[in-house]
Amino acid sequence: MKVRITEDLIEWYRINQRDLPWRHTKNAYYIWISEIMLQQTRVETVIDYYKRFLSFFPTLKDLAEAKEDVLLKAWEGLGYYSRVRNMQKTAQILLNHGMMTLPNKESELLALPGIGPYTAGAILSIAYDIPSVAIDGNVYRVLGRVYEVKDSINKPKATRIYKEIMDSLLPNKEASFFTQSFMDLGSSICTPKQPKCELCPLHDKCLAFKHKSVELYPVKEKKKMQRVENRIVFLFVYQDRVAICKRENKGLLASLYEFPNELLTDSSLEDILKEKKIEYNFISRLEDTKHVFSHIIWNLQAYYISVLEPNGEYKWVTKEELQNAYSLSSAFSKYVKFFMER
Ligand code: SF4
Repeated sequence: MKVRITEDLIEWYRINQRDLPWRHTKNAYYIWISEIMLQQTRVETVIDYYKRFLSFFPTLKDLAEAKEDVLLKAWEGLGYYSRVRNMQKTAQILLNHGMMTLPNKESELLALPGIGPYTAGAILSIAYDIPSVAIDGNVYRVLGRVYEVKDSINKPKATRIYKEIMDSLLPNKEASFFTQSFMDLGSSICTPKQPKCELCPLHDKCLAFKHKSVELYPVKEKKKMQRVENRIVFLFVYQDRVAICKRENKGLLASLYEFPNELLTDSSLEDILKEKKIEYNFISRLEDTKHVFSHIIWNLQAYYISVLEPNGEYKWVTKEELQNAYSLSSAFSKYVKFFMER
């Protein structure tokens, strides 16, 4: 029988919880949006996006009926666009079934696009106060350390082990506080580096603290190396317009716009432009940038090219259009900024 930490966590959360906009509501639609945004994005960044997104789509119906360009624009900067596409699919499914919010049954939630066990557990516990486990990186870290769990969190077996621990800790009430206590403890006290164990409500029960082995937990195997791609980016500019193009509707950054770019090869810039039938006044080299995706790293070498004629292959957009009507990946944000400020 593992030592019980539930009451300590809830008590600590009651006093120390962070004041966040989605904590002023029990509306499952709002809580769902916050949870999807919080995947892979820091809380401080999410706050403004959350408010803005809800001003665009205050109800599930608004989200279901949104035009794709408006939807992607509202998500611009958050990355991982499949998240917002799945949210819209889910909203459309629910609306087609006459529902105006998320269901309160785990099996129904798990049947919806983009909702896995973590999000389902978070919605059930936070919005509906139904005892339900939501296991994310914070839970792995806190439990991995408190109980010195030896199994690697990247292995499928770990999911079962951590789930069993969480099931044994689940309170009958205050499920919302229980789930959120891990989020706050994990981000403010039991942090990945230099945890503040002396301030932790669990330090008298934590095995890793007792054994001075905190840095060994949670056990994690090294990630695979990311693939590196060196790419050349073109800011083709004609008068007050810049050229953009749309990516394919599947794969990395699906359906987003981008500045024309391609893999860097041995071909000279002159040859590439000749092949593209681009005639120009002048060229200037821009600052190189790097963008890290989960599995690929892009090293970008960019050129500002003032062209003589707009090439029909691209969309030629003004600053205003670029700002308001098209969503570009944040991989290009430095070059967007450059064009906007020129
Ligand atoms: S005592 Fe330290 S390592 Fe253990 S749960 Fe608390 S902060 Fe984490």
